Amino acid sequence: MKKIAIATLGCKVNKYDSAVIHKLLEGAEYSFVPFDQQADIYIVNTCTVTKRADYQSRQLIRRSHRLNQDALIIVTGCYAQRAPQEIKEIQGVDYTVGVGEKGRIVDLINGSPGKEVSSEITNDIPAFPEHTRAFLKVQDGCDSYCSYCVVPYARGRSKSLQKEETIRNISKLTELGYREIVLTGIHLGSYGWDLMPPTRLSNLLRSIEHEGISCRIRLSSIEPTEFDDDLIDLISSSPIICNHLHIPLQSGADEVLKRMNRPYSSELFKELVKKLVSAIPDLNIGVDVIVGFPGESHENFTNTVSVIEELPIGYLHVFPYSRRPGTPAADFPDQVDSKTIKNRGKILRGIGNRKREEFYRRFLGKRLSVLIESKRDVDTKYLKGFSRNYIPVLIDVGEDMVNEEIPVTITKVRDGKVFGLP
Ligand code: SF4
Repeated sequence: MKKIAIATLGCKVNKYDSAVIHKLLEGAEYSFVPFDQQADIYIVNTCTVTKRADYQSRQLIRRSHRLNQDALIIVTGCYAQRAPQEIKEIQGVDYTVGVGEKGRIVDLINGSPGKEVSSEITNDIPAFPEHTRAFLKVQDGCDSYCSYCVVPYARGRSKSLQKEETIRNISKLTELGYREIVLTGIHLGSYGWDLMPPTRLSNLLRSIEHEGISCRIRLSSIEPTEFDDDLIDLISSSPIICNHLHIPLQSGADEVLKRMNRPYSSELFKELVKKLVSAIPDLNIGVDVIVGFPGESHENFTNTVSVIEELPIGYLHVFPYSRRPGTPAADFPDQVDSKTIKNRGKILRGIGNRKREEFYRRFLGKRLSVLIESKRDVDTKYLKGFSRNYIPVLIDVGEDMVNEEIPVTITKVRDGKVFGLP
């Protein structure tokens, strides 16, 4: 029996793709081993969103070659799609496979060179290690071309999964016992624009609701310009859509947003967040910010800090700007030095940690609906679950509660951990 090891870097969409590859290869002929063990076949699903992601991808490839010099090494994902030649030059690499060519990986492993499969978004249902939360990719690619981002070059134009197919997959996942489905995409808010006839994310969500499914739905990142009143009404009144949103801000300075090719102002973002928070009870909003974009002055950074400070958000994801060859921003003058980028990142991460803690504390003494997962906290050994508004809660309950959504009273927030009682 041949041993396969899969390593995945990057976003939820990549994790989803790896889970699909795993599922496609399941069967009598192969067994799966952790990536740090000797295997006959290594699959490295790369990311290219930052310079660091490229570096980590190359490291994983080299590590697999060190573990077994005779292993078949297949490299896929965004880095392999963007720079196949660069990857092929790394010692030990046998094949590079673009995103959307998962079938070809199976062919290569089964010994036939394989044809390129269509880059249409596919409808495979992978298995997820935690039998509680499943990810469903309903959209891939992006047409936006933000000036710093390599994703449109790596993953191509936006493609959506047909509505009927999405609903069928959600039904299958609920039949398999999953209690939460995260709808993912590279640019989820553009769901359906490419379909014939075109549709929108709110229409998809409404159709999912009409099916009367028995699990909760979480949305991954949505761009600020893609919220309309219909979508906000739907989320605020829905019995199944979680009150948790992730919205990229990237910068609080309008001139930086403009040079990023982001089509909104900091004012629009602030208005949107306030509107969402007043419309959707107990909403948790996570925000992405990039620090050190070319030309980001001290004043620009201060604008970002004050926008973040002003807003009732629950957490921050801070990304240091990374110069990606082939993107317009890579050639912009006034690249910010790495020390300044580091400092700005540290300041924002500090604010993010404080905001997160403040958000958690708002729920002390309140009851939240928590879906219990099978993971245990290493220190307390309590089971961990997530509330609908994405608060990780530790609860002292037995294994029989795994995969149950139960009301929990939040009793304590200590060292960044949240505790609750059923
Ligand atoms: S919206 Fe902008 S940042 Fe997001 S994937 Fe598309 S180009 Fe990249």
